[in-house]
Amino acid sequence: MAKVAINLSTGSLQQEEIIVGIDLGTTNSLVAYIHPETRQPVAINDLGRGTIVPSVVYFPQGGETPIVGTEAKEYLLTDPQNTIYSVKRLLGKSYRDLGEHAQDLGYKVIDDNSEGMVKIRVGDRFYSPIELSAEILKELRARAEHALKTPVNKAVITVPAYFNDSQRQATRDAGRLAGLEVLRIVNEPTAAALAYGIGLSPDEEKTVAVYDLGGGTFDVSILRIQQGIFEVLSTNGDTYLGGDDLDRAIINHWTAQHNLNSLLANNVPLQQELRLLAEAAKRYLSKDDDFGANFTENLVLRLTRTEFNELIRPLVERTITSCRQALADAKLTPQDLDAVLLVGGSTRVPLVYDSVSEFFQQPANNTLNPDEVVALGAAIQADILAGNRRDVLLLDVTPLTLGIETLGGLMDPIIPRNSKIPTKAGRQYTTSVDGQVNLKISVYQGERDLVKENRKLAEFDLRGIPAMPAGLPKVDVNFILNADGILKVEAVELRSNTRQAVEIKPQYGLTDEQVEQMLMDSLTHAREDVAARMVIEARTVAEQMLYQVERFVEKNSLHLTEDEITETAAATERLRESLATNTKDTILKAVDELEELTRPFAERVMNISIKQAMAGKKIE
Ligand code: AMP
Repeated sequence: MAKVAINLSTGSLQQEEIIVGIDLGTTNSLVAYIHPETRQPVAINDLGRGTIVPSVVYFPQGGETPIVGTEAKEYLLTDPQNTIYSVKRLLGKSYRDLGEHAQDLGYKVIDDNSEGMVKIRVGDRFYSPIELSAEILKELRARAEHALKTPVNKAVITVPAYFNDSQRQATRDAGRLAGLEVLRIVNEPTAAALAYGIGLSPDEEKTVAVYDLGGGTFDVSILRIQQGIFEVLSTNGDTYLGGDDLDRAIINHWTAQHNLNSLLANNVPLQQELRLLAEAAKRYLSKDDDFGANFTENLVLRLTRTEFNELIRPLVERTITSCRQALADAKLTPQDLDAVLLVGGSTRVPLVYDSVSEFFQQPANNTLNPDEVVALGAAIQADILAGNRRDVLLLDVTPLTLGIETLGGLMDPIIPRNSKIPTKAGRQYTTSVDGQVNLKISVYQGERDLVKENRKLAEFDLRGIPAMPAGLPKVDVNFILNADGILKVEAVELRSNTRQAVEIKPQYGLTDEQVEQMLMDSLTHAREDVAARMVIEARTVAEQMLYQVERFVEKNSLHLTEDEITETAAATERLRESLATNTKDTILKAVDELEELTRPFAERVMNISIKQAMAGKKIE
């Protein structure tokens, strides 16, 4: 029974709207929701057909509506041209993106425009992967509506962490086409972590690995969860490695062992039977040790767990290589991980479980159903967005831009206003003077271009930067704004790992009226702000140029002629004078002149120094 609310303005009863979580997978898809009484996520099992809906769409010849799911899967061998599977691999891709993999599919992918998005030909109609994915989503939506006996119009849909913008957008569009408002696209590993209850408490800090081995794809992601923010530190994987390959290893083994090649040739039903038997053996060997079944009248096919392990070991090893790479990319060791989560039906294979646990040096967590875990997490995310877990995660927006002061008193926005919180953003900076060992970081809030018009929140020094030439230190400044609006600013010099952090409460002391006033000001002053910014930017360019030219002349006077030195001094003076005018065009003109003048001999000196360096000497 769904929760019922009373609409206070009309006095009428209204049912709380259900937002479902959808795992739109390459091989299988599922839809889940939060049970209103138990408050637990549940995968929907409509009419007892099971929770898993194979991501297969069959277009019956002459028929109007396509068939989706287990029933459609049966046509994969008998009517492959009209049976579309693995459409997720095509989402948001051009024909060129697909490359040689386009030929591996049993159906026809259109290649007349290699730049455009792929289309699939079924009979005399063309479908985009978005339309086909929408068919799967429509089926999931229908099952949810039928099982829950209520309209379903909103959803959270998951995508792999490595999906790019175009693939995410395509997923969103598919949702819209299926009549769903897609409230959020969530990364699959994030959903898996949520399902395991990780990241649900705001002050939790955890680092986890999510290992996902499905029917046709494999990926591993390393996530850092900090103050309700899920950050993907790295991902790795193979989009053409999964349970199907384990089945194929068994098929190849039996075919070779019993010389089945001639028997199987041109016998599609027999090939199909062998494939089903191989998958049955694989599943059986996840629990028991010896598999045996009749294939043809006088042939029994057998496989032991030990034999199976040897057949699949190279495939499992490939996944471990990816894990090693993902961990290295995240600059972590197994000891840094708080948990290893397993996703995807193929993680039920004992060798997979053992290998993953051994590599990460801890027992992997497989307590939730690996087929359902992503959909369950998506349902939790949906519940958060529905506002049912305010105690858990406050998804709010920050009313004013947060940024730091850069050269010339300019505001460099890091987190723009209206960003959903919690959020995290950062940028890299460097020093402007040779040998600079401190960097002042001033944090501001507001919409104006000049920091002096905004509100200063904090200031701190990043000290102990090793002395280096200007521009060499790499300082990462990160803003982490948690769900309570508390801002943590961290600065790290990457070459030396010098770090410093402060915590600030930006909203403190600002009333709604003040926030409104700051926004109004930014609009009324927009034009003069832009002009002031341009002058400051020109001044900054000029000051950098002066600094560099003077240093250059000082260091390389031996390689310059008398005339070059005097001419440069005059041009430098003119540039300095132009600064006094405070006019953008005058300053930039003087910058250009000085640059024109010095370029030829700067190049000459560069050549000399390269030659000398190659001769093993160093000039200054
Ligand atoms: P998914 O794409 O996550 O739905 O994964 C489906 C894959 O998991 C298929 O290749 C299945 O054969 C495989 N699978 C499901 N159950 C088992 C099991 N008990 N043992 C081994 N593999 C399984």
